[in-house]
Amino acid sequence: MKDKMTGGCFCGAVRYEVEGPPLTTRACWCRDCQYLACGNAAVNVICASAGLKVTGVTTEYVSVADSGNEMRRRFCPTCGTGLFSAATCRPEAVVVRAGTLDDPAPAHPASYIWTSSRPAWGLVDPQARHFEQQPPPPGAARGD
Ligand SMILES: [Zn+2]
Ligand SMILES: [Zn+2]
Repeated sequence: MKDKMTGGCFCGAVRYEVEGPPLTTRACWCRDCQYLACGNAAVNVICASAGLKVTGVTTEYVSVADSGNEMRRRFCPTCGTGLFSAATCRPEAVVVRAGTLDDPAPAHPASYIWTSSRPAWGLVDPQARHFEQQPPPPGAARGD
């Protein structure tokens, strides 16, 4: 994977760069992500938040996820594109929404999570790891 990735929102008001390499990549089928990813699984690149630099203004929406974690989701207030998410209890990691990357190729999901919440037509990559619910954090014992 590349050591530095760049991206931004749909309208261009928010731009960012993030130093890599990512901790992991995941496609999330949780019910919250289905809202935020327009019906599909959200494709997430999990990075060290220390490496994230953002220009432009983002708005934050705080909610409690199915995992029980309080999530802080950041989006562009002009075009509504979701850019980042982070768990309040794990501020050292930030989720970057793969659709906002200038080059989404490195976001190829290593695992599919919350597969128990996906609709019957919801696709998963049989080559990837699957978790019915929330996996351990990247870098934890099982690592992914
Ligand atoms: Zn925007
Ligand atoms: Zn999710």
